Amino acid sequence: MELKVVNGEEPPRHVKPPADPSQWAHRELRAGEFWQRIPAFADVSEEQFLDHKWQMKHTITKVEKLLGALKGIVSEAFIKDAEEGFRIAPMAVRVSPYMLSLINWDDPYGDPIRRQFIPVLSTRLPDHPRLTLDSLGEQGDAPVPGLTHRYPDKALFLALDTCPVYCRFCTRSYAVGPDQENVEKISLKAKGKRWDVIFDYIKTRPELEDIVISGGDSWNLRAAQVELLGNRLLEIPHIRRMRFASKGPAVMPQKVLTDDAWVDAILGVTQRGRELGKDVMLHTHFNHPNEITEITRRAMQRLFAGGLHIRNQTVLQRDVNDDIATQQLLARRCSYINVHPYYVYQHDLVRGTEELRTRVSTTERLEKHVRGSTAGFNTPAFIVDAPGGGGKRDVHSYEHYNRVTGVSVYTAPAVKPGKFFLYFDPVDLLPEEGQQRWANPDEHQKICDEALEIARAKVAAEAEG
Ligand SMILES: *Cc1c(COP(=O)(O)O)cnc(C)c1O
Ligand code: SF4
Repeated sequence: MELKVVNGEEPPRHVKPPADPSQWAHRELRAGEFWQRIPAFADVSEEQFLDHKWQMKHTITKVEKLLGALKGIVSEAFIKDAEEGFRIAPMAVRVSPYMLSLINWDDPYGDPIRRQFIPVLSTRLPDHPRLTLDSLGEQGDAPVPGLTHRYPDKALFLALDTCPVYCRFCTRSYAVGPDQENVEKISLKAKGKRWDVIFDYIKTRPELEDIVISGGDSWNLRAAQVELLGNRLLEIPHIRRMRFASKGPAVMPQKVLTDDAWVDAILGVTQRGRELGKDVMLHTHFNHPNEITEITRRAMQRLFAGGLHIRNQTVLQRDVNDDIATQQLLARRCSYINVHPYYVYQHDLVRGTEELRTRVSTTERLEKHVRGSTAGFNTPAFIVDAPGGGGKRDVHSYEHYNRVTGVSVYTAPAVKPGKFFLYFDPVDLLPEEGQQRWANPDEHQKICDEALEIARAKVAAEAEG
């Protein structure tokens, strides 16, 4: 472009100052044989480590195995703390060798991956007084077991109830994983008969265009099951879109590099969908930039080259990813490997995870700083999945938010018209006055009623224009 010369002077050039190298930190992916720092994996070759069967076989489910794997690099006190943490956790513990190797064991208490997968007793906080086990009310919107039909044109198909790892914060701890000492789960096995009932329901609902296949985790479906599920959904004329949900890319990307049958199955369904004009996607779940390594990049490239697009959903967690730099880095690192940041979720009210929850005000602040830091299509929406079945709402869109009691009130006119949904900030982060009110059980209903009353008045006033 030619610059116009006005009165013999060049117009000022607006030169952007040189960027700080932190602007491309997202390109520096962990590579090499990092797992060999873990005593139990000191002799594990790259070939072994990339083998998904090896990863599955060496996945840690018992604290004794954890102790064995980490002998010498972590203190007795930490192991004891974890032992207690495992005992009271509502979720079973399952950690892949890959995840275990990404944790910085010099600082297990501060490590963001450790915090997500390995509970310890010492940081545990009491649950919020308003917590219920199925906080999203998924069972309340289930016309048949394992299918949640809440939104007009899309539904959630819970295909199975196992995962390659178990996350402490799992929203579906009412169903996912084996029973725990203190939680008896509803059963959602990957079974033909149960699936038939779901397919039959979907067929009778022509408004459904979009199916989320989750669980549990699609990584744990056999190749033949991926094919069967995908093809049967593709064959239903009104189904236009489907997404396989899996945490696999974040916790066991090795599967994409070495489980050819599974990769062929999902790429086959994707290709068949293309031919039919139907969109097949993979939704995954990276929470921290440390979860994305050179292994991840190679794995995602194999899927991308095969025509499968991937979106990411993150759960916002205290001292894991609730700061601006981490969220910006995560969005850029996902984008770098062609994974589109889609959602950042406010942490749901889940048993035994109060220490991981953050305030709604934190999420609002993060959103402001992430938007504008990269391409719009690589900018996630920050949302609250409204407890009680309101569905996903933009975090900023509350009708009322009391920062003292931590109560926010959302409406969902397209999903549950006329209803109000309450989300609760963690009590320990509230100002003193709010903490005191929650300490008194007689106040609980009053706190909720106050917030509802203000929200109702606001919505009524808006309705009148
Ligand atoms: C999240 C979810 C969906 C999918 O919602 P999107 O906003 O389209 O990603 C569908 N059904 C249920 C019950 C859900 O929780
Ligand atoms: S992978 Fe998903 S469904 Fe499985 S435990 Fe984690 S959050 Fe829950």
